[in-house]
Amino acid sequence: MSVLSRAFVPALALGLGTWLGLGRPDARAAIEAGTRAMSSAAGAARDLAPRGPLTPPLDRRPSGVDPSAVPDPASPFPRLNPDATAQRAWLVAEGPARPFNNPRRLVTFTFDDGPFPETAPTVLHILDLHRVRAAFFFVGEYLEGDGPRAVESRLWARRIADAGHFVGNHTMDHKDLTALTHGAALAEIDDSAAAIERATGRRPLLFRPPYGALDPFLESALRDRHQELVLWSIDVEDMKGTDSDDMAARLESQLAYKGGGMVLLHDIHWPSVKALNRLLRRMAVNRWDPAHPDRAGWAIVDLPEYLRETGATPQPFETRADLEQARKSEAIRERSR
Ligand SMILES: [Zn+2]
Repeated sequence: MSVLSRAFVPALALGLGTWLGLGRPDARAAIEAGTRAMSSAAGAARDLAPRGPLTPPLDRRPSGVDPSAVPDPASPFPRLNPDATAQRAWLVAEGPARPFNNPRRLVTFTFDDGPFPETAPTVLHILDLHRVRAAFFFVGEYLEGDGPRAVESRLWARRIADAGHFVGNHTMDHKDLTALTHGAALAEIDDSAAAIERATGRRPLLFRPPYGALDPFLESALRDRHQELVLWSIDVEDMKGTDSDDMAARLESQLAYKGGGMVLLHDIHWPSVKALNRLLRRMAVNRWDPAHPDRAGWAIVDLPEYLRETGATPQPFETRADLEQARKSEAIRERSR
């Protein structure tokens, strides 16, 4: 961390408690924890570590080993989509099949396009406050090079992983892979995986294509690489949004309509960070409680748990469009009761 950012980041954190609308005594705790967390890399990893078991090593293989040759018993991810097809990944992202108005609303959080040193401390802090373990899909090019920006990005990539969050590959340059030659598209996947492994010490198992764009060639490439293809089900186009209140409300309304889901946000965009904070604060007062299982509430889980529950009660549909059609019919039936 540079001298300038050492001075700047804690000062930024001091303002954030107020800016994020953290109420007292949370604000004081947030500021103290935020400042403390930024005091050193070791301190950050310790303070921001989620409670409960840390991430099992996703894929701690030496570089250059062909992943297909190595079984991965440590992987916490049930492989619901071994063929890595986009159609299946869209459906899996919708979560488990549950009756309409099921009280346990399963939610998991995913973040794309980072790491972004300006927002990362705050995002980590918010997630830690709410005991949320998320998945981050990094862009490889941010992690490469010797400039101060790349050094900081690698530092935060490592802190995010060390804090127990899952780290995935979002390609090297965030291009639409379907518009590239096959060779260039494969390089986008493989170069980024290598950059993420160098920065975090973890070879990414999770993959999310920019714009969700895939074709059969890319699906087969991901299948060959044994990648877990992760898409999403809740999207409010947060990168276009500037009103975080509105963004949080739209996220909550999509989640309520679908009875939960896999949330896509961009942790590089301040309004999204603020919306995340608002949404988690609202969810905190309405968490699903196993002592009162019939009372509707949010069950925020990590990606492996989301996939496990989805695997236990898979959607009885072939495609997300079929599921959406069934949801619409059910919503109409509910309204007419
Ligand atoms: Zn993206």
